Amino acid sequence: MAYEAVWMNNPDKLNKFEFVKREKDGLDVIRTIIDQYAKEGYASIPEDDMNRFKWAGVYEQKPKDGHFMMRIRINTGIMTSAQARAIASIGRDYGRDLIDVTTRQAIQYHWLRVENLPDIFKRLEAVGLYSYEACGDCPRTIVGNPLAGIDPNELMDTREIVEQVNDFYLLNRDFSNLPRKYKMSISSNIYNNANAEINDLAFAPATKVIDGEEVVGFHVYVGGGLSAKPHLAKELDLFVRPEDVLKVSIGVTTIFRDYGYREKRHQARLKFLVADWGPEKFLEKLKEIIGDMPTKGENKIVGWNAVYYDGVYPQKEKGLNFIGLNVPVGRTNSSELEQLADAADQFGDGTIRTTMSQNIILAGVPDDKVEAALQLPVLQRLSPNAKPFMSRTVSCTGNEFCNLAVVETKERARRVAEFLDENVQLDEKIRIHFIGCPNACGQKHIADIGLQGALVKTPDGMVDAFDIAVGGILGPGAKFNQSLKGRVKGDDLGGVLVQLINFYKEGRESGETFH
Ligand code: SF4
Repeated sequence: MAYEAVWMNNPDKLNKFEFVKREKDGLDVIRTIIDQYAKEGYASIPEDDMNRFKWAGVYEQKPKDGHFMMRIRINTGIMTSAQARAIASIGRDYGRDLIDVTTRQAIQYHWLRVENLPDIFKRLEAVGLYSYEACGDCPRTIVGNPLAGIDPNELMDTREIVEQVNDFYLLNRDFSNLPRKYKMSISSNIYNNANAEINDLAFAPATKVIDGEEVVGFHVYVGGGLSAKPHLAKELDLFVRPEDVLKVSIGVTTIFRDYGYREKRHQARLKFLVADWGPEKFLEKLKEIIGDMPTKGENKIVGWNAVYYDGVYPQKEKGLNFIGLNVPVGRTNSSELEQLADAADQFGDGTIRTTMSQNIILAGVPDDKVEAALQLPVLQRLSPNAKPFMSRTVSCTGNEFCNLAVVETKERARRVAEFLDENVQLDEKIRIHFIGCPNACGQKHIADIGLQGALVKTPDGMVDAFDIAVGGILGPGAKFNQSLKGRVKGDDLGGVLVQLINFYKEGRESGETFH
């Protein structure tokens, strides 16, 4: 039943947050923050508007004492050096210097106060950046190929498409009240570097012969998502030309807005509607909105690189290179980001690129400048040659700042990676992801080893512990990792992982990989 019809006929079928959204659009809170709360202070913010802060890209930070975290959308993960400097200076002025790279290529601040927000919004807007709708029940940051435009492994440059789709949805009140968060991915990289299958809507590389000519375009995946009930997105029988991406996305988003479930929030993501309808019925409804389109062509995804680029690699254009840097557990700071901005201007093409593996890429470095770039002080910590486990460890925010967290993650993830690098020798890089609760912001399900925080009772009280799952992968043969029995105390985690990896190392067959 369409959304308006539910309101008219069955309002008792709506969860209580639907009434909060209906009473005042989430986007309206941006103006209220600027005009009222920033002047009157934290204590003046009522609960309903505090919940709407997400539409401004802002969440209350643990322990709810007047500090906030904020996400900034970085479309397809590409920012200019000027944007990076603006992000760094805001982080220094208001965010105690902390800059996190998220698993959706966004930048995350902590420690902000409501009084700071108008100035932050203004300074971001001045360089064409926005935190708006980076959170909330709306279309969020559009992830994509961080190498778009320079990637030898892309069928086409997707930057303009991402900008077009972003510009359509950003602050668009026709789509600012969706049943739940809504995540899009657009990439033409043949190694699936925007993790198509875990997004609500994804456009992935494909070709099709139409009227005797091979057309480069996209296949469409719908209904992916992680959290407590993870779903791999379903591929629709559709081939989409580049010029039709926006139209198809509007069709899918309209279905979600009008037919998505609004009764129980934990069953409101698009994945539940897609699972109930199936891809055939979903496509039928989509075609009622967008008209007919060609059926599938040839899927061009040939593998999955898990979005890792550490090292130096040649770009599409001869003589130019990109340098993939490790950002340990996704955490950097204002000074490092400024140094990277300077490096991008001095040695590269003036861009800095964030990846879904929480890392950073410097692009456009000519052959004869690579060696000098590698000597930069900032590249000694944010290294292109990080140790194997540190280079493959991802972590969500955890209970340092996140109100939903059960356990601490980031610092533990860093220490465990260090411990493994000291105690395990392996000729293969194993991806380890930490999450602090079932919401799975650290994308535990797609890791070689996924670690989900929980608590266990001990004689000394409740302590941090982790459930372990192994063998997640995307791309051809995509599957989420499988849970192992038992729960490991946080302090024992390093030792248990050494045993687990050595067990694999000793038992593996020739050519066998961890996943
Ligand atoms: Fe917070 Fe849970 Fe997300 Fe980690 S996974 S950042 S603990 S909501």
